[in-house]
Amino acid sequence: MSLQDKVAIVTGGSRGIGRAIALALAGAGAKVAFCHNGDPAAAGTLAEINQLSTGMERTADVADEAAIAGLFDAVDAALGPVDILVNNAGILRESPLAQTDVAEFDRVIAVNLRGTFLASREFVRRTDAGRIINIASDLGILGRQDMAAYTASKGAIIALTRTLALELAPGILVNAIAPGSIETDMTSPAHMSPEQLARDMASPLARFGQPEDIAAMALFLAGPGAGFVTGQCFGVNGGSVMY
Ligand code: NAP
Repeated sequence: MSLQDKVAIVTGGSRGIGRAIALALAGAGAKVAFCHNGDPAAAGTLAEINQLSTGMERTADVADEAAIAGLFDAVDAALGPVDILVNNAGILRESPLAQTDVAEFDRVIAVNLRGTFLASREFVRRTDAGRIINIASDLGILGRQDMAAYTASKGAIIALTRTLALELAPGILVNAIAPGSIETDMTSPAHMSPEQLARDMASPLARFGQPEDIAAMALFLAGPGAGFVTGQCFGVNGGSVMY
């Protein structure tokens, strides 16, 4: 499957799932730009992309309207018009509802949901053809105690996916991937409690997935084989949600 001559943006592409998606798209021949919010891993990921294709990286907070416009301007100038947008950047905060302050709630919604809205809007203002792939979560369907903002943001991304699929058809196909538990920094013991990690192992396959498991689905959704697919949410989750 070739994405030769295609240009992709992956938000949050410096590590984890975003990095795996960026490398998969580059491996299929796409030019791949990614943003992050200052991650020191970005330079290494850019070097990996450049071994496969042509890459660029940029610090841009996805919650910041001007930063997203600047990202698209820079990618347009360096690589050409964008064909594929992967809204992957996300953050997770774990806290019981009573202890969740407004700033913490707002930040999770701003990065995960507003970031998806801003980048999608910028994409649509510049093209009427292409693919948008939103990274949601199985927790946006299942819910999860002590993750109110995160689960709400991910459920909203699935709803946004359906609305944009309707609004942007037939030129732009919009789909979501809802990963189950994937082994990244986000699910490391430094960022998640032992109780949550134990819940993450409760799917039928009883193990964590790898970022490459999500990248394989993203590659399919970006390519010609997915030409009749829009408005869907694909669970890549070890069976945690059965659609
Ligand atoms: P990760 O390893 O923590 O990587 C997150 C990426 O997003 C990094 O590149 C990070 O760069 C970037 N990022 C965070 N905030 C940003 C911002 N405001 N602006 C721009 N970039 C930002 O996370 P991951 O596990 O790969 O998760 C990727 C996506 O998959 C997220 O949307 C997450 O919710 C979703 N997901 C993950 C799992 C899982 O089990 N891991 C499950 C379901 C869904 P900086 O460090 O520079 O901020």
